[in-house]
Amino acid sequence: MSRSPDCLFCKIVAGEIPAEMVYSDDLVVAFRDIAPVAPTHVLIVPRHHIDDAAAIELTDSPNLVALLTAAQHVAVIENVADSGYRLVFNVGDAAGNTVPHLHLHLVGGRELEWPPG
Ligand code: 5GP
Ligand code: ZN
Repeated sequence: MSRSPDCLFCKIVAGEIPAEMVYSDDLVVAFRDIAPVAPTHVLIVPRHHIDDAAAIELTDSPNLVALLTAAQHVAVIENVADSGYRLVFNVGDAAGNTVPHLHLHLVGGRELEWPPG
């Protein structure tokens, strides 16, 4: 697994910074967002450092599939699989991307407006 120096989510993956873990496997970890926007707000991140969704290459396929299958598990764990939930990758400033380590937001537990604000 590659990591990036001073990357916040690499430090959470390594257990150097605490987070409330929801799920983990060989490729990904999932933990609660520190500033949740809904009753369920979980961040699913690859253990391997990837900058963002715009940096993904075909060789990252296993990590991408692992993020999505982890999301299925998290939805069940969080009891939103039946009610529904949203999966989001923010990319760049206009989308409000703040942490430069790829992360999939899983948001649910309330009605979610569409289009988003
Ligand atoms: P972005 O805006 O980059 O798509 O999402 C980054 C998310 O990381 C934000 O929702 C923010 O609340 C969350 N976050 C930032 N720092 C921390 C932290 O130290 N711990 C946790 N659990 N979440 C964080
Ligand atoms: Zn990182």
